[in-house]
Amino acid sequence: MKDKIVEMLNKGLSDLVSKTSSREIEEVRVKYLGKSGELTAILKDMKNYEPEQRKEIGAIVNSARKELEDKIAEYKAKFEQEEMDKKLKEDAIDVTMPAKNVRIGALNPITIVQNKIINIFKDLGFDIYDGPEIDFYEYNFDKLNIPADHPARESQDTFYIDDKRLLRSQTSTMQIRVMENSKPPIKMISTGKVYRGDELDASHSPIFYQLEALVIDKNVTLADLKGTLDYLAKSLFGSDVSIRMRPSFFPFTEPSVEVDITCSKCKGKGCPTCKNSGWVEILGAGMVNPKVLDNCGIDSKVYSGFALGIGIERVVLGLSEISDIRILVENDVRTLNQYK
Ligand SMILES: [Zn+2]
Repeated sequence: MKDKIVEMLNKGLSDLVSKTSSREIEEVRVKYLGKSGELTAILKDMKNYEPEQRKEIGAIVNSARKELEDKIAEYKAKFEQEEMDKKLKEDAIDVTMPAKNVRIGALNPITIVQNKIINIFKDLGFDIYDGPEIDFYEYNFDKLNIPADHPARESQDTFYIDDKRLLRSQTSTMQIRVMENSKPPIKMISTGKVYRGDELDASHSPIFYQLEALVIDKNVTLADLKGTLDYLAKSLFGSDVSIRMRPSFFPFTEPSVEVDITCSKCKGKGCPTCKNSGWVEILGAGMVNPKVLDNCGIDSKVYSGFALGIGIERVVLGLSEISDIRILVENDVRTLNQYK
């Protein structure tokens, strides 16, 4: 028996020599010293021996176990250290390496101006509404008092989807939706893309951005509109600009006005941008046509209101050196980076 134990111990010790990792060492430990290990099995057999023998064999087994355990621990420590060193080496970060060049984006000037105008109206207490780009004829034309034979309805000017829906040609669609769904007083703006059948050139695009404002309450007058426009123009272009209103015609407002501001390039003296007039047109506005109020279930005998619509691209051109709106949609990062 004693020989058998010594043989087993030697076999265990020689097994260790050929191993190359802490995991393999652990396998050796399980093979000899684990619950079903070979040396453990001898201890389990002890009950079959006489007490005298039991004592002797027990001592030999325990001493063999101890020797093997010590050796295993020694190998395990050695491999674990090696493995740790290797892992640290692999995971090491070279802090002297050049950093990756992270490119930070910039907002398109259209978005910058849009946000600026939104904030001006927010400060004045306007609510902001977002609306669908695909809308009904009803909201884009009928309820805005645009007659059936109006040129804007021609299919070369408007993108029709089916016999009810179109790509909205103005954000005024949202005025109707808001008037139908809320009671005055109303102070709202809505902004987004609109679509028209224009060829793309330096000053036209089939897709462009509008921002629409609407105020409905008792006793709203043209003076309120003028005050709002003046505040808007000064907030956007600086306190030294003036505005002027010229009579115009839109089906959804009565009276209607085109609004000009002092040319920012020549400060009103006259230059090519303003065609030597000293004024640049920035938006259309007017008092909401009573028919439009009635179309939306608001009593035009009690309430009045004003509306204005701004072409965002036009404001961008007025505030920047950009003179061709195509530059705004080309997404050239060199352009965008200039407006960070
Ligand atoms: Zn000018």
